[in-house]
Amino acid sequence: MRSAAVTITGVRDAVVSVGSPMRNAYVSFSTMTCSVIAVEARRGDRQFFGFGYTSNGRYAQSGLLRDRFIPRLLAADPAALADEAGDNLDPRAMRRIVMADEKPGGHGERSVAVGGLEMAIWDLAAKVAGEPGHVFIARRYGEPAPVDAVNVYAAGGYYQPDAASDQLRHELRRYLDLGYAVVKMKIGGATLAVDLKRIDAAVGEAATTGGSVAVDANGAFDLGTALAYGRALSERPVRWFEEPVDPLDYHGLAEVAAAVTVPLATGENLFSLPDVRNLLRFGGMDPRTAILQMDAVLGYGLAEYRDMIDAGKAFGWSRSQFVPHGGNHLNLAATAAFGLGACEVYPTKFQPFGVVDARTRVDDGRLRLPDIPGLGLERRADLMAAMRGVLD
Ligand code: MG
Repeated sequence: MRSAAVTITGVRDAVVSVGSPMRNAYVSFSTMTCSVIAVEARRGDRQFFGFGYTSNGRYAQSGLLRDRFIPRLLAADPAALADEAGDNLDPRAMRRIVMADEKPGGHGERSVAVGGLEMAIWDLAAKVAGEPGHVFIARRYGEPAPVDAVNVYAAGGYYQPDAASDQLRHELRRYLDLGYAVVKMKIGGATLAVDLKRIDAAVGEAATTGGSVAVDANGAFDLGTALAYGRALSERPVRWFEEPVDPLDYHGLAEVAAAVTVPLATGENLFSLPDVRNLLRFGGMDPRTAILQMDAVLGYGLAEYRDMIDAGKAFGWSRSQFVPHGGNHLNLAATAAFGLGACEVYPTKFQPFGVVDARTRVDDGRLRLPDIPGLGLERRADLMAAMRGVLD
């Protein structure tokens, strides 16, 4: 007998604070928020909930969700979101449904709202299938059965007010002791001389466990400053130099790429396939060493992200160079499902939205994927508690 179709019966969102006093080179996170989203659905007499949350670094998207994207999803013909068998949803179809009547280009942050909503649909559909998210995603895309652990790196090293001079070293030590092989710190919030002292201390700390340090300028430098940092970093064993110039300054990035040998990384602030194609065409980065950090949840969801991976292939980029930004459960699942290089996580920042927490151990830099149906948010009681507003 054919199983019943899945019908979406409600979508709710709420705003959660992830504020903290820390800074990077460009912004303070003191008023940062994110949207949490719950999609409720029925198949026969069974009820399912899918959960999503918008990725770190952009604010909550309540207006866009409530005024445009949630109403379009609820108004859609259920058949438009059904899979081939008709007994589950195909999350890949959501983008086309909710982006009806949206002009191309000028993406703004609507891509963040759509990405968070699509995340909840993936979580829901994987639960309907009774599969962990990464297994479901791999099957949906015809990929081989995925690995159950992926490389992750610990992002932190923000500028903290009134921090003791050895606070950064202690923070990175903590990540190394948890088993991370790569740790990331912020740069560009101090002078080059001060930052080089911070970087050298961090590199020395990481070397004690055979680990390495990546640095992130968050797009704050003009070309001259980016070149000065890039040349200094090229003399050090730094894993990568992230966002040396404005995320949309492909010409400036190409100038940096031509002048330095430290691997470059960027992409977390490119939210669409056309933007990523421009980066690949004009950014001048070396596909053998550079890292692409697009984030499915900031950029219209996994369907758009998969298109970015395929565009990368056409330009000679292997999947090992894709390392999604954001410390997000959907990005972690995508890393396993598509065989990507690694995924960013936040052991102590943006809690409880960093995928891991300060007690999560990783095995030689590898994190095990949640093994319950869906993306695994339920594995974190504190995360589900923070999402209470969307459940009540
Ligand atoms: Mg970054």
